[in-house]
Amino acid sequence: MNDMIKYQRVLLKLSGESLMGNSSYGISSDVLSRYCSDIVSVNAMGVQLAIVVGGGNIFRGMSGTDKGFDRIKGDNMGMLATVINSLAIQSALENAGVKAKVLTSICMEPIGEYYSSSKAIEYMEAGYAAIIAGGTGNPFFTTDSAAALRGVELKAEALLKGTRVDGVYTADPEKYPEARKYSRLSFDEAYS
Ligand code: UDP
Repeated sequence: MNDMIKYQRVLLKLSGESLMGNSSYGISSDVLSRYCSDIVSVNAMGVQLAIVVGGGNIFRGMSGTDKGFDRIKGDNMGMLATVINSLAIQSALENAGVKAKVLTSICMEPIGEYYSSSKAIEYMEAGYAAIIAGGTGNPFFTTDSAAALRGVELKAEALLKGTRVDGVYTADPEKYPEARKYSRLSFDEAYS
């Protein structure tokens, strides 16, 4: 245990949508390398890191239903999109000299190992970034739910979320410029 660091184990949720940068689709190599350089420095501090990445830059089940896709198939496509992003992050991290493993919530070996919390903890303790792909493995959820679930399972001390918006607002600030940011928000307030 390193007393100099605030959190020994962190679950980092990265938005898939942010990964496309200024494009309307896909993976921006600029954003990917920015994500990686931050992860590299955190890894060098000795923080154990689990990473959950979204898939919104490739496919979201909900938006597919507007185009006539079956919701469950669309959500499965979204979960596969998170695997594509996870492999991109793994590859970039390995290029930067950080050991990383992809663990998938749906069995698809040999693309990634089938996820279990004990395996993820074992890898993190051995200095690997554990990239947990495939969301929760269930349709009708999002990768934010997956991040919360895995964070609890892996006993992470903090769940940190990197996304396009820098906090919680009264409305989506990308659509509503008058939206106000909460400096602090209790669970009860959010619920009501
Ligand atoms: N998804 C799912 N179950 C999960 C996680 C994700 O069905 O447990 C699907 C869902 O269709 C979702 C898509 O995968 O829209 C991509 O994830 P998300 O929207 O959370 O990505 P982000 O907003 O972070 O880019």
